[in-house]
Amino acid sequence: MLKLKNVSKYYYQDGVITEGFSKVSLELHIGEFVVITGESGSGKSTLLNVLSGLDTYEDGEMYINGEETSHYTENDFLEYRRKYVSNIFQNFNLVNSYTVYENIELAMIMNGEKHKDIKKRVNEIIDIVGLKKYKNTHTSKLSGGQKQRVAIARALANETPIIVADEPTGSLDSKASKDIIKLLHEISKDKLVIIVTHNKKEIEEYATRLIRMHDGKILENKCLNKINLDSDVETKDIRNISLFNKIRLGIRNAFNLPVKMLLMIAIFMLIIITLVSNYASFKQAENQESETSFSMHFINASDKRIIINKKNKESFNDSDFKKINEINGINYIIKNDLLTDQDINISSEMLSMNGRIEFNEIENVDVGRLPSNDNEFIIIGSKDNYFLSHMSEDILNKEFSINNIGNEIKSTAVGIKYDESLGE
Ligand code: ADP
Ligand code: MG
Repeated sequence: MLKLKNVSKYYYQDGVITEGFSKVSLELHIGEFVVITGESGSGKSTLLNVLSGLDTYEDGEMYINGEETSHYTENDFLEYRRKYVSNIFQNFNLVNSYTVYENIELAMIMNGEKHKDIKKRVNEIIDIVGLKKYKNTHTSKLSGGQKQRVAIARALANETPIIVADEPTGSLDSKASKDIIKLLHEISKDKLVIIVTHNKKEIEEYATRLIRMHDGKILENKCLNKINLDSDVETKDIRNISLFNKIRLGIRNAFNLPVKMLLMIAIFMLIIITLVSNYASFKQAENQESETSFSMHFINASDKRIIINKKNKESFNDSDFKKINEINGINYIIKNDLLTDQDINISSEMLSMNGRIEFNEIENVDVGRLPSNDNEFIIIGSKDNYFLSHMSEDILNKEFSINNIGNEIKSTAVGIKYDESLGE
């Protein structure tokens, strides 16, 4: 049924290679009750995972019913698992909010069994594992031994020829352990059951094969009872879950949420509501900003004025200007200019003055000349201003920094115009 030939499994993690097991050769058949023992870390779980298709292997060849598997895809292994393997774990892996019946029923539904076949079979299986009294009990209320019975029942419901159990009695007391092993033995007659255990004693009387592992190798592989029923192996057809069963599961899950889950959902909803309302008030503030015409740059923030910034905060380049120019309604672009209603500061090495930027159609200046370039400006001010009237040589043709809310532009003053309506 299963055959390993020099199979090795390595784990790669953060550049470190750990050996799961190496060069394992093995042949297992239907009808066998195989017990794998060995100290912790010897590779037992890794071997089980490879045998049950939960994990892949690196070297060697694993045969399933004589078929090589080294070329198997994830889907191939998935199909192998569905058809051949049921797993039983130390921690049971049950749906705790489901009853015993529902847990077993779930396995059958997932296997695509028909609704009318399910009820009878689930009841039969509950009888086999001795849980008739607990049929409608939630599995969270059961003892460890009873939970493991449900897990075994679920494996039976899968009707797979292979049952794999990794330390199924690891968390049970010795009485419950004995009962579970006995039960596994009873159901193993026409199956291949592979069990990993720490406690060899409790299982010895049932085992047909004993495998002892050490440090990733098989130290001992002892056949106690020759059995080979491989030729009789029957696998079930894989069916898809019917729509009816999908709807049933959906409805059940909707009403079967444990209190903790409901609380989680409530908290989650609260977070979402808070986030949404925060976002809403942020948007509202943004809106108010535009309605009250507040802006860092403009005192007069009429909706005829817009500010465009590049997302990456870079300055506009020629191709940006070209694109802007192509927008309908743009007559011309004044490049490299600050447009602001706010007070600005202009300063050179010698002087520092405050004022506003304005765009006026000015025809002449009193000192110097009109601007002829993008990076030139004139200063308009009162003749009573000492700088403007007495220090024109220090102003004209000098480079100034124009500062406004973190923006700085270098520009050259080329002219002065006196305007007596302006103050000093
Ligand atoms: P056992 O079940 O016998 O206790 P395992 O099969 O779990 O042993 O582990 C065998 C070796 O493989 C150990 O050295 C372990 O550290 C390593 N191993 C197991 N699982 C992983 C993993 N997921 N990643 C890395 N190393 C692992
Ligand atoms: Mg283990």
